[in-house]
Amino acid sequence: MPLPAHAPGHASGHEPDRDCPRCPRLVAFRETWRARQPGWFNAPVPSFGPDDARLLIVGLAPGLQGANATGRPFTGDWAGDLLYATLIEFGFARGQYDERPDDGLELVDCRITNAVRCVPPENKPIGAEIATCRDYLRPQLAADRPVRAVVALGRIAHDSLLATLGRRAASAPFGHGAVHDCGTFSLYDSYHCSRYNTNTRRLTPDMFRKVFADVRRFIDRADAGVRRSR
Ligand code: SF4
Repeated sequence: MPLPAHAPGHASGHEPDRDCPRCPRLVAFRETWRARQPGWFNAPVPSFGPDDARLLIVGLAPGLQGANATGRPFTGDWAGDLLYATLIEFGFARGQYDERPDDGLELVDCRITNAVRCVPPENKPIGAEIATCRDYLRPQLAADRPVRAVVALGRIAHDSLLATLGRRAASAPFGHGAVHDCGTFSLYDSYHCSRYNTNTRRLTPDMFRKVFADVRRFIDRADAGVRRSR
């Protein structure tokens, strides 16, 4: 499977090193899968998309056979099918998503990252891992980035985003379709686009599309405001 060009080592100041040692349980899991599947990426998955994007999407963590294998967020499993089709529909991506990091898909004014960069056993990171990896989430919202809208895919991403702002989860409870004013950006909540959520119809494609339609309108309005003020 072709891996992203930065696969051999992708430390860039704001991105964890390929051998980030900070979460012992996840390091052990990573080593297990490096031995089992040496052709997989098996490392902290870097953010995808331009640094100056106004939309930031935050997922939970890489899927074992998805991003953990391919090295690009939401690439290689069902969650990517729904996410990238939706992003293309609303102009936040162009090209064709083909479950491979070399499929040529480009994000447009949009960046995707995860609350936890390493694949966790059973897709379940523990609190200490979420808190530790927040050091790599926080810079995605740094003041020198023009992020205006953030989509949190699931409660863990939502709560971790609030924690980066020093806010308690109870101050802005997670709810699908909810929008929270976070000062420099608006936080949009969505159920995670996992196969489990879509299979159980907790999240339908239309519910997901509605979130991104709202984000599209919000960003376009912000754009129009900037043009008017010039
Ligand atoms: S989850 Fe984040 S902090 Fe923990 S080992 Fe992976 S990259 Fe490092």
